[in-house]
Amino acid sequence: MGYQALYRKFRPRTFEEVRGQDHIVSTLRNQLRTGRIGHAYLFSGTRGTGKTSIAKILARSVNCENPADGSPCNECPACRAILSGTSTNVIEIDAASNNGVDNIREIREEVAYRPTEGRYKVYIIDEVHMLSTGAFNALLKTLEEPPEYVIFILATTEANRIPVTILSRCQRYNFHRITADTIAERLRELAAGEEVQAEDRALQYIARAADGSMRDALSLLDQCIAFYLGEELTYDRVLDVLGTVDTDRFSGLLRSVAAGDAAGSIRLLQDCVREGREMGQFVSDFTWYLRNLMLLQSSSDLEDVLDVSTDNLVRLREEAQMVSRDALMRYIRIFSELSGQIRFAAQKQILVETALIRLCRPQMDTDLTGLLERVRVLEEAVSRGLPVRSGQPQAGQDPLQKDPQRDDPGKTESPAARAAAPEDLRKIMQEWGKIIGMAGMPLREYLKRARPRYDAQTGSPRLYLEVRNDVDLDFFRKGRDSQNPGSIDELAELREIIRKAAGCETDIAVVSAADREAVRGLSDLSLDDLLQDRIAIPVEEYRED
Ligand SMILES: [Zn+2]
Repeated sequence: MGYQALYRKFRPRTFEEVRGQDHIVSTLRNQLRTGRIGHAYLFSGTRGTGKTSIAKILARSVNCENPADGSPCNECPACRAILSGTSTNVIEIDAASNNGVDNIREIREEVAYRPTEGRYKVYIIDEVHMLSTGAFNALLKTLEEPPEYVIFILATTEANRIPVTILSRCQRYNFHRITADTIAERLRELAAGEEVQAEDRALQYIARAADGSMRDALSLLDQCIAFYLGEELTYDRVLDVLGTVDTDRFSGLLRSVAAGDAAGSIRLLQDCVREGREMGQFVSDFTWYLRNLMLLQSSSDLEDVLDVSTDNLVRLREEAQMVSRDALMRYIRIFSELSGQIRFAAQKQILVETALIRLCRPQMDTDLTGLLERVRVLEEAVSRGLPVRSGQPQAGQDPLQKDPQRDDPGKTESPAARAAAPEDLRKIMQEWGKIIGMAGMPLREYLKRARPRYDAQTGSPRLYLEVRNDVDLDFFRKGRDSQNPGSIDELAELREIIRKAAGCETDIAVVSAADREAVRGLSDLSLDDLLQDRIAIPVEEYRED
């Protein structure tokens, strides 16, 4: 008894079931109702927005014996044959793997024959931008004089890579990213239909995380359901499985801090503690949140680096206006330092509380020169596009022990000796945001919640990917399709992306944060690492007075 993936099971089967593409659906239905069907369509838009689903509905509609208001009945022999994949009238081609001239010539030969039953032969060519130039030329010949019984539906995520000659022969439809509200509504229906108990907040969170793609939303929902099979899907559980940054929470925290409301921010922190949040992760996630704000303040060009949904971007923009640049730098400094200390602290919560009070009370900070210097360094770093990562974390080492080698007059002491990270790893860290952006789903989702680290004891060139739990570890070890182990090698894909983004080959080991032995001795690459090697600027240590 296999568990069927939701996004397969709930592909829309009629136009009524399609969500978020009303402009396209109504045009197509009008054509179907009036019998003015085109012979070549181009569907373009982000992945997971319904291009192939609509193509398939259209393919059934034109062949259906009893179409209702443009939608296929899905009951007649023609519909059934297409649904079961036995019909010869609907031909799906994946241009990513069939991109040569011969593949298209084959189509041209077939096109000469009328369908043996039904009215139309429908060719759905997915990822059509992958066709070779020769193949495009061959396709163009067919598109120039298509037989009346043939319909081509070309689908692509990259319309800019389609030759103009092809574009000009097609009716073009741009698929929109689907709003979080629309996705959440669909998730509610599906959860009800599947008899899965789910908190509304949990579904909304998944909808936001999917960032405009219905397919991603369903596959995230799948992950959550599979992990808590038969149990209620709560917000906490979703956070636990998806583990991505909880922006609502951080947004509230930032607003309290900006308003100087120490009591309010401590209360928010206590909520997180009650929810069982691990404080180290909390600090590092909040630091990332602040980093996003800082990038947004620095330049609006950086919006696409942030990898946040449109809804969240609106809120971030508002917050970027609320907090001054200097204040934000200060927040980041305090939290970066905190993330370095917290892993050795017995009273983690108290440390975080102290830091929050410090954020709310700038007058507590006495070391103004150090602060101004630090701000200058950060500004420089941002203007050169260096990523700001949580500062100074030194796992598995005694923070009180001084490092004699770094103890020269120009620098204040940094904690315990550790090997410098190899150049390649630093390059990878600098491009980490981009690397995540280049990964497809679901790999991207897993990368977002993993931490790139290195072995500070040996300084080995191996990249350690610290994932949060065993579920994530399994993803990297077994591949994304658990039915078919090793079907897609996630690490090979990641290595390839790193090669493209950072220009280096790297060996990657995946370790779970829960495995204390495995993560001992691993260090983060921090902004300080990057700065210390490039500019001899002291990075002062945070002292609790
Ligand atoms: Zn039918």
